[in-house]
Amino acid sequence: MSAAILAATSMQEPLVADPIKPMRSFDLRVSAVQRLSEHFRRITLVGDDLALFGSNAAGETLDLRVKVMIPSPGHALPELNNIRGSLQDDWYRNWLALDEAVRGVMRTYTVRALRPEVPASGGKPAVPAELDIDFVLHLDAGSGPAAEWAAAAQPGDSLTLVGPCARWGDCVGIEFAPGESQRVLLVGDETAVPAIAAILETLPPHVSGHAVLEVPLADDFLDITTPANVEVRWLARGGNPHGEVMSAQVRSLVVPAACAVGEEPEEVDIDSAILWETPATATGHGLYAWIAGEAATIRELRRYLVRDVGMDRNAVAFMGYWRKGQALS
Ligand SMILES: Cc1cc2nc3c(=O)[nH]c(=O)nc-3n(C[C@H](O)[C@H](O)[C@H](O)COP(=O)(O)OP(=O)(O)OC[C@H]3O[C@@H](n4cnc5c(N)ncnc54)[C@H](O)[C@@H]3O)c2cc1C
Repeated sequence: MSAAILAATSMQEPLVADPIKPMRSFDLRVSAVQRLSEHFRRITLVGDDLALFGSNAAGETLDLRVKVMIPSPGHALPELNNIRGSLQDDWYRNWLALDEAVRGVMRTYTVRALRPEVPASGGKPAVPAELDIDFVLHLDAGSGPAAEWAAAAQPGDSLTLVGPCARWGDCVGIEFAPGESQRVLLVGDETAVPAIAAILETLPPHVSGHAVLEVPLADDFLDITTPANVEVRWLARGGNPHGEVMSAQVRSLVVPAACAVGEEPEEVDIDSAILWETPATATGHGLYAWIAGEAATIRELRRYLVRDVGMDRNAVAFMGYWRKGQALS
């Protein structure tokens, strides 16, 4: 019997030769919508498919990214049952080939939390597995279909995600990899808040450092708990240009040594390519930095930390999560 059939049998699903791939689709429905602040909305999703949703070996999701498929207004999502595999596989080419007006859009989001099913016990009913996504409502600053979907979402609405398949083993889509580092610097704008919050919740007490979070307003400062010795600094952007206060904070926390000699990082054209530079696992025991947000700010911080501070590029992850003026899938 093939590995695929064995795995299907163990999950008590029909005996079909379903190819196991690192990623697959999850057909879910909204079970709750929660206003966290002026710009953050938490959408909780449930569905039988969640039994197959992947996480790392410790059951954590950290900065795990998923693709969210948003239907076009007035159209149901096209039949894409059985999405198997990443954007390199056929389903993605087939989806791209559909009429733009009906295929909907795909956007990237972070799993803020994944809670496994709690079985019924002691007369209490079972609680289904749940997955939270925290959407930034950027409706006042160049709106987009994902933000608009989240703003209007109601319990009962459907949402399809493409994410890691638990049957595969390795969880695809996690970048946070501090290795043996005991000191961290986590930096991000509002789009990176869900990832940084999820990472902070998992860090052990002996890890120290800083988390710098730039959000539109003081109302967007959220409660984040961490067992680690990490100081969380919330910064309200107010009327300042995007990324400016976050960047200034990083420059005050990480100062170049008098004799620092760094290399000039390769130029990345952030209008035609995604700025994404992540070491597989940090080497060494020094500072590990994880930095995500609008691409121009990330590019500027990359230049500062690599060239001016001389940070080891194996100890820092730079991720352009979005680009001002562009829609990124
Ligand atoms: C790995 C990864 C994880 C991410 N995780 C999250 C997450 O958990 N929560 C989250 O909210 N976002 C997250 N993002 C960012 C999200 O994918 C983008 O903000 C996305 O563009 C939103 O899609 P949209 O349809 O609302 O807007 P789009 O159609 O993509 O864009 C429309 C316009 O809005 C602008 N825009 C997009 N995002 C913002 C913003 N935040 N503020 C101001 N203007 C914006 C664009 O530049 C464009 O001009 C993540 C991105 C990546 C790559």
